[in-house]
This record gives sequence, structure tokens and C-alpha cells, in this order.
Amino acid sequence: MRIYKSATSIAQYVHNRKQEKHSVGFAPTMGALHEGHMSLIALSRKKCNRTVSSIFVNPTQFNDKSDLKKYPRTLDKDRKMLSRAKCDALFYPTVKEIYPEKVDTSVDVDFGTLTTVLEGEFRPGHFAGVAQVVKRLLDIVQPDKLFMGQKDFQQFTIIQHMINELNIPTQLVVCPIIREKDGLAMSSRNVRLEPHFRKHAPKIFKTLKQTKKESKTNTVGKLQKAAMKSLSTEGMRPEYFRIVDGYTLQPVRSLSKTKYAVACTAVWAGDVRLIDNIILKK
Ligand code: AMP
Repeated sequence: MRIYKSATSIAQYVHNRKQEKHSVGFAPTMGALHEGHMSLIALSRKKCNRTVSSIFVNPTQFNDKSDLKKYPRTLDKDRKMLSRAKCDALFYPTVKEIYPEKVDTSVDVDFGTLTTVLEGEFRPGHFAGVAQVVKRLLDIVQPDKLFMGQKDFQQFTIIQHMINELNIPTQLVVCPIIREKDGLAMSSRNVRLEPHFRKHAPKIFKTLKQTKKESKTNTVGKLQKAAMKSLSTEGMRPEYFRIVDGYTLQPVRSLSKTKYAVACTAVWAGDVRLIDNIILKK
């Protein structure tokens, strides 16, 4: 696997592949890779001739600076995992490379309420940072396809909106959530879980599944209340549990009248914040 640190060198690599009429898939990450990330690489390899990944811990999307500091960094292991998964190229830029003083990296898109609900409510400014870094990465890499996980449901909804609004010629492909055997959604943050919380964190997926099971017979209000209660155990603290429209992310009043419904949650397990979701209906 080739490693590129500069924007011009990765851009040249992709340009050359396209000259050879090869399609290029791209899976951006913040590193501390796990099987969830690897599933994006695997799908990209299936759908494209060449696969590029990036590792960049983006400072502009961290509303909590201590979270940025604590974010796990495991480059050597990541590199080996990507090589083993037969990723063709890794873009590993510095902050200066992504945000040079002379380049305007702001994103001029009206996201409406997409960026202010759910995660946006509790992590102000987070999605402005996500949109900024993804736009910048797409400008540099210019892939044919972009691979992102359903794990970050709101993130890909926002990125799809940005791609549509700016007519970016990249197709977004969403990959299913990869989980540990006990159901916990894989996340780079899981390594920071204390043993007590690691043991009880699978309750999040259990609650989501239970919600889905009861969604045909219960009201949205009752489902959300029961889920919040179920998640408030063993010292875990749910920040929200909401059933929303999968397109607009607005609260759903009646499941029978909604075509696409998703239950999204964020839960504090000690000082680690975990997010997860389940599609109730599509
Ligand atoms: P991150 O490194 O956390 O920014 O994630 C990079 C990409 O991997 C994003 O598109 C995530 O949605 C995706 N991802 C993270 N965890 C998982 C998972 N458990 N299953 C599938 N995709 C994931």
C-alpha cells in the first residue's frame, strides 16, 4: 500500500488511476481502525478498481477539545490492517495540509435542521466540521464513490445532502453497522470503555432491537420512554433516544404514517459517549 502525505501526491495518484480508466473508491477515517472500517474497504474493493483510505483526526469536528486529545491514535496497527485488507493507497495528511492558510475550506450549504437535531443538539459545531473536512477530502481525492457507515446515520445524511447541493460527482455508498459478537457497535472509542461499561454497553443494541420489535404495536412516545428507561441502568446515561424520519431527521409522530423511520441514540458509558441506531422501517 502506498502512503501519501501531501494533497498533490494523493490527487496525482487518483488522477493517474482514472487515466487508466480505473474507478476509485474512498473511505475516510479518523484511524484507530476496526472491522467496521475494514468493511468499508472491503465494499470499496468490490465496487471499485482502486481503493483509497485516509486517516485524519479532524480537529474542527471536536466540540470537546479533551475528546480530541484522548482520541486513540494507532498508526502502525492501522497501516498493517489497511495493507492486509488490500487498500491501495492511504492519505495521511497533517492538519496544515488539510487546512492551509491560503485555501478557503468553508462549506456554503444550507443544511436546514439536519445539522442541529440529534447529535447537532448535543455537539454544537460538530457537523460544520464534518462537512468541512469531507468536502476538503473530496476536493483533493475526487473519488468516484465515497464509502461511509450507517453507524453515523446523521453524518451520511448530511454528507448526502452536501453532495446533492454542491453537485459533487461522487456517489455515496452506505455500509451496514459492524458489531462485536455481543452486539456493541464497533467504534474507535470502545477501547476507552472501563470493563464495567464494556460489559453493559451491549444493552444499547438490545434496547434498539427491542424498540424495533415493539414498534408495530406501540406509540413513538411509549417506545422512546421505555428505551430511555432501559438505557438508564448500570450507571449508563442516555443523552437522547429518538425515533426520527430517515430523510429529514425530524421527530416521527406516527410510525404507521412514516415511510422511513430510524431510532437513534447517544449514551454515556462512564466518560465515553457511544452512538448507535436501527432502521425501524424503510
Ligand atoms: P471514524 O473513523 O469513526 O470517523 O469512522 C470512519 C467511517 O467508518 C465512517 O464512515 C463511519 O460511519 C464508519 N464506521 C465506524 N464504525 C463503524 C461500524 N461499526 N460499522 C460500519 N462502519 C463504521
